[in-house]
Amino acid sequence: MRDLNNLDNLKNLNKFNKFNIPEERLLIQRDYEKKIKQSFEAREAHPRACVQTFGCQQNVADSQILRGMLKNMGFDLIENPADADLILLNTCAVREHAEHRVFGHLGALTHVKRENPERIIILCGCMAGEESVRNRIRESYRHVDIVFDPHALWKFPELLWTAYHKRGQIQEAGPESGVLAEDQPMEREDGVRAWVSIMYGCDNFCSYCVVPYVRGRERSRDPEKILLEIENLIKSGYREINLLGQNVNSYGKNLDYSFTRLLREINQIPGDYWVRFMSSHPKDAAPELFDTMADCEHVAKQLHLPFQSGSNRILKIMNRRYTRERYLDLIKYARSVMPGLALTSDVIIGFPGETEADAMETISLVEEVGFDALFTFLYSPRPGTKAAEMPDPVSKAEKQVWFDKLLNIQNARSAAIHASYINHTVRVLIDSDSRENNNINNNLIDADFLLTARTEGNRLVRLKGDPALIGNFTNALITGSKTWALYGEII
Ligand code: SAM
Ligand code: SF4
Repeated sequence: MRDLNNLDNLKNLNKFNKFNIPEERLLIQRDYEKKIKQSFEAREAHPRACVQTFGCQQNVADSQILRGMLKNMGFDLIENPADADLILLNTCAVREHAEHRVFGHLGALTHVKRENPERIIILCGCMAGEESVRNRIRESYRHVDIVFDPHALWKFPELLWTAYHKRGQIQEAGPESGVLAEDQPMEREDGVRAWVSIMYGCDNFCSYCVVPYVRGRERSRDPEKILLEIENLIKSGYREINLLGQNVNSYGKNLDYSFTRLLREINQIPGDYWVRFMSSHPKDAAPELFDTMADCEHVAKQLHLPFQSGSNRILKIMNRRYTRERYLDLIKYARSVMPGLALTSDVIIGFPGETEADAMETISLVEEVGFDALFTFLYSPRPGTKAAEMPDPVSKAEKQVWFDKLLNIQNARSAAIHASYINHTVRVLIDSDSRENNNINNNLIDADFLLTARTEGNRLVRLKGDPALIGNFTNALITGSKTWALYGEII
């Protein structure tokens, strides 16, 4: 059992955290929620809201807070924007393509707004953190009612109240350094897997990345609040806790606390559950992290450790502050203390100035490590970042050739790893019914394999079985495999 006395000395941490929004100011937002709800009730209105989330798990977690606020304000949450009285787009700015998609959606919403001018349209998330995007929306997307950046999320109820009482677009951006709001309402979608943000922002300024500009400085949540949140999640049946942060290894720096301490504290919470975390940064990951993972029975033996490039020259220009050799040493150590560790990573191909020789070093690192899965990205210039100013002479077509080569190598490896599971029994957590994920029509799924589950290494398993089993750990015999999934039967 976790020794709750140990938490006593943490009780006052919050007041030393310069980023925290004071509790009184947060309570004012709860009052706005009540006022909005009461005004709907007075009119016997039954408003419906649709929250559309783009990008990473951090946005998924933020959308859960927004959904919690909307529920408090009396909204029913629905999936189809055409039927909604309020449409909220929570956006991603990490790659240009993601931004184009959102502008496409916003354009399509012009006629939705024209149909019913009472409808409220909102854009928030990382795109709203870019001044250029806010200006473009102010000038060319006047049908958008509210625009707010991630630092203003805690104020959403007040912004909505203002929108209901005032004409014209409202824009709100918080302080660039960022803020931290604890005890936010939260409406989680599934009852099995929970996302828990343990920190926000990033101080690393990798030269290609927009995150530090739109999400502010690194700031960690109070460990006591995190532990209580996780205890409650486990008590209410959640079986997989995913800790989120841009660089979880630097969790607690502003609190004189550490990520490994947090993992050990979480591990003492009783129950049947797995804990995962993402992302780790190789410059800060150390043997202590891997020793802690190995010691903690609840921490899944799975590591997402983005390396971005296998070329030391490119790593330096990316401002990643580690070398290929250090990365390989870390992996070697991690595997020595956790045999069978599942490893995943992020890679960028086509960084400005990358040559074919650099890209081949990336591919050779992939072959040397043998990742379970990779998230591969073609470099996308982001305004305001250092890399966006660098000469980028290589054509997109040539970068695509390197990218495809990397993808083919990884796909072959993923398929081979999957095939090696056939006829083996693995422990899995059943998390959903694939019919609810709309996957049934994409031909990837055999209609018999209705349940989706995950192994400890986070591999997707499609299972035959009864949806009543969702939320349970079980053993499954693997009977088939494809590049992206295993197929099996519950035993
Ligand atoms: N903080 C995490 C880390 O450093 O590992 C990554 C967060 S970022 C949202 C997710 C991934 O997007 C990065 O690891 C990187 O591979 C990719 N990414 C970020 N900026 C990019 C860009 N400008 N072009 C292409 N990929 C990018
Ligand atoms: Fe972006 Fe680098 Fe921070 Fe990750 S560590 S969010 S890639 S700046």
